[in-house]
Amino acid sequence: MERYTINGIFLGTGTSQGVPVIGCNCAVCHSQDARDKRLRTAFFLDVNGVHFVIDAGCDFRQQMLTNNITSLDAILITHEHKDHLAGLDDIRPFNFMKHEPLPIFAEQRVVEAIKREYSYVFKEHPYPGAPMMNVQEITEEAFSYKGITIQPLRVNHMTLPIFGYRIGQFAYITDASFIPETTMKLLEGVDILVINALRFREHYSHFNVSQAIEVIQKIKPRQAYLTHCSHDIGFYEKTSKTLPPDIFLAYDNLQIHCL
Ligand SMILES: [Zn+2]
Ligand SMILES: [Zn+2]
Repeated sequence: MERYTINGIFLGTGTSQGVPVIGCNCAVCHSQDARDKRLRTAFFLDVNGVHFVIDAGCDFRQQMLTNNITSLDAILITHEHKDHLAGLDDIRPFNFMKHEPLPIFAEQRVVEAIKREYSYVFKEHPYPGAPMMNVQEITEEAFSYKGITIQPLRVNHMTLPIFGYRIGQFAYITDASFIPETTMKLLEGVDILVINALRFREHYSHFNVSQAIEVIQKIKPRQAYLTHCSHDIGFYEKTSKTLPPDIFLAYDNLQIHCL
């Protein structure tokens, strides 16, 4: 695998409902610590100057504004659940700035979901001002975009096969509850691994903290970050201190760098 200069930003680190949860009275949902406020999971990557976002959920607009992201080359989608897909209408400012459709990479089933859920985008004569998407179907094979090699990583979200992504020495996996051996092989030698950890108790469709740590300890990255967390992850301040060395609890707007 190539090595790139990679800068990343955790745009959102929350599970599908985000944190705080509407109507929840728990202490975490009422925390004053900004690191306990989690938008829906997404990630910004600058790879040798090429800008990617992984997933565009409901908070996409706010995430772009908060992090002053003014140029975007492509979006990589992990799967079709709304917390990863519901923000695609808000790519329009990027369309208007560049006067061209934004490439969106996803596997076949997800492409079909995008075409169904954003049907107005794909009409023969869409209304003026509709988002412009250049949806590109990918498989488990590595592909190249603007000189950057992207390796999709097959993982399972309960029974749903979804994608993580490896780019050079960086890998990103969210919403996984199982990682096949073939994918574990593709993760060999990563420096930085981002992986989902919902909470401490087990969950049917997402890794919990101990399962995520088990995967990390097999892959042995230089550093790992836990994301897609619910309010049950506890306070950032407290939970982050319980993790093994070089495993970090991610929080919104946290930046990472790998050379
Ligand atoms: Zn999710
Ligand atoms: Zn709560």
